[in-house]
Amino acid sequence: MKIICIGRNYAAHAKEMNSDLPTEPLYFLKPDTALLKEGHFYFPQFTSDLHFECELVVRIEKVGKHISPTFAHKYYTHFTLGIDFTARDIQQQCKEKGLPWERAKGFDHSAPLSSTWIPKTEIDLMGAEFKLFQNDILRQTGNPKDFIFSIDQIIAYVSQYMTLKTGDLIFTGTPAGVGPVAIGDVLRAELNGQTLLELQIK
Ligand code: MG
Repeated sequence: MKIICIGRNYAAHAKEMNSDLPTEPLYFLKPDTALLKEGHFYFPQFTSDLHFECELVVRIEKVGKHISPTFAHKYYTHFTLGIDFTARDIQQQCKEKGLPWERAKGFDHSAPLSSTWIPKTEIDLMGAEFKLFQNDILRQTGNPKDFIFSIDQIIAYVSQYMTLKTGDLIFTGTPAGVGPVAIGDVLRAELNGQTLLELQIK
């Protein structure tokens, strides 16, 4: 199982990171050891600037490669929410040196994921809204209608390069409002008002 993460998929987030808008999807991978399905998150010792990035996540339901955008919708049936934890200080060092991001993005438990999956037949994705609260303060609001690249475009693009397999996850990018977390924080993510993920930082 692999975790595919899309970067800069919302114009407002690209702007807050002082990044150019992508002309094609930008993706990177996290290993399966990044998943955190239950329990607390323990603040890693190697960073002093750990950021939350709340993201809509889709799960791939069947094997595919060279998937056309027209048929991409057949490859996923459910959504949920996850967090793409990022060691922003390490990411900044990597960016400056032109190095890969794995050390900043792919560490253990850097991908907390809700265990509640919502069938796409139940929600209209284009009308969906998700929110991330830090200690009950609203930090991020995301609307899939603001995606630069749609889920279908992402699936078509990534599957040109790597075979997508059943159970693979796609983190679809984070909206504006990312910020640092501290030990003791509680992060809560909701989709259309329903809490899907709650996480304590230890
Ligand atoms: Mg992200």
